[in-house]
Amino acid sequence: MGSSVVVLGAGMVGVSVALHLRQRGLDVVLVDRQNPGEGASFGNGGLIQREAVHPHAFPRTVAELWRIARNNSVDAVYHPLALPGLTSPLLRYWWHSEPERYLKLCADYAKLIVTCLDEHMALAKPAGATDLLRPIGWMRLYNSPQQLETALAEAAVMHRDHGVNYQALDSDALAAAEPHLKVRRTGALHWTDPYSVSDPHALTNAYARLFLSLGGQFILGDATTLKQDGAGWRVQTSEGPVQAEQVVVALGIAANKVTEPLGYSPPLFGKRGYHYHFGLQGNAVLNHPFIDVASGFLLAPMRAGIRLTTGAEFARDGAEPTPVQLARAEPIARSLLPLAEKVEDKPWMGVRPCTPDMLPIIGRLPKRQNVWAAFGHAHQGLTLGPTTGRLLADMMTGEKPFIDPTPYRAERF
Ligand SMILES: Cc1cc2nc3c(=O)[nH]c(=O)nc-3n(C[C@H](O)[C@H](O)[C@H](O)COP(=O)(O)OP(=O)(O)OC[C@H]3O[C@@H](n4cnc5c(N)ncnc54)[C@H](O)[C@@H]3O)c2cc1C
Repeated sequence: MGSSVVVLGAGMVGVSVALHLRQRGLDVVLVDRQNPGEGASFGNGGLIQREAVHPHAFPRTVAELWRIARNNSVDAVYHPLALPGLTSPLLRYWWHSEPERYLKLCADYAKLIVTCLDEHMALAKPAGATDLLRPIGWMRLYNSPQQLETALAEAAVMHRDHGVNYQALDSDALAAAEPHLKVRRTGALHWTDPYSVSDPHALTNAYARLFLSLGGQFILGDATTLKQDGAGWRVQTSEGPVQAEQVVVALGIAANKVTEPLGYSPPLFGKRGYHYHFGLQGNAVLNHPFIDVASGFLLAPMRAGIRLTTGAEFARDGAEPTPVQLARAEPIARSLLPLAEKVEDKPWMGVRPCTPDMLPIIGRLPKRQNVWAAFGHAHQGLTLGPTTGRLLADMMTGEKPFIDPTPYRAERF
């Protein structure tokens, strides 16, 4: 097994893989066309989602499908012209969301998720970044007693099966926890385990700095220049060609651009999302990130302001940003919190790299001894980066994997 590795992609996943490999003494070069953490890992909701043992399923009820088909909701929209290209992966996504199949893959997903807090801490401590991981959890707000009751019943099952912790808040308790909320709600489900990251970009950068301090290298370069070079690989960078015995593809939604020429084309599809930051009026504060369930977007207190992040937008690869969800969400957000002006002129956009079976792809590429995959982390790549980093490093160095990697193997596509 070669000891030199080039990791392509310096998002939360690639940085975590590179760091774990370097900690095991491998000679690692991390390559990205931008500085670390500037892809999807930059602008997400910042949640290290210990509660996310059930990944986002495709809606299965006619009412839900009809609501989304009308294309005027806040949480999910689509470009009609993108649908022909998305039909096949979305049909497979729908198929995998069938309740029995979904239950089985939830069990596989949960094995990764349950590790996320410890795996982040294991990197954040030596990186001096624990202050970015705020142990405040996040909340789902309900305005229907019946919906709240159903959510609490599901949470009780998640607690029993996967150790997920939560608290039920009634209307008064919610008002006490969030005194500047402008509305009363029936109550809230407070997931108490998750960390809320105050600056996801800074977290990826802190892990990247730790990697550099341990002797790893970061170089700007284009991953699509990857070519076989004898028994190893070569990629062009701003500092000339870089050669390595092994390659890790951690390019998020762009992974197929490198794996396709190597004969591997998994049905990856993107769910785009946007954010804006807002100030708060006067001395108002927001103590916890929350989703007001009827509204369908996340509001989270961040270093840069209150970050409003949107749900899923389905569009063609490379299509111009169309932040209609932000436009729909902003007035609702203003009715929930005393928001002041926007911090930025232009919204941020990122793409969640999704697979039809909702599981990431972690492991060796089919028929390739020395090319490895670490992508497809969808809604939870910030959460799962360090877990994937450790798991892949175990596999690449011949150690006993700390989680059984079989469900995430590349060959399943
Ligand atoms: C709105 C939104 C909210 C989200 N909220 C959360 C959340 O709260 N919690 C959570 O866990 N996850 C969340 N996610 C998901 C999470 O952000 C992603 O799953 C995660 O960032 C994926 O990490 P990654 O390293 O795989 O990809 P990325 O961070 O996208 O990194 C891929 C890297 O590849 C590089 N690259 C691409 N092409 C090339 C090339 N040709 N050459 C060189 N480099 C290249 C890019 O520059 C980029 O740096 C959210 C996502 C969005 C969009």
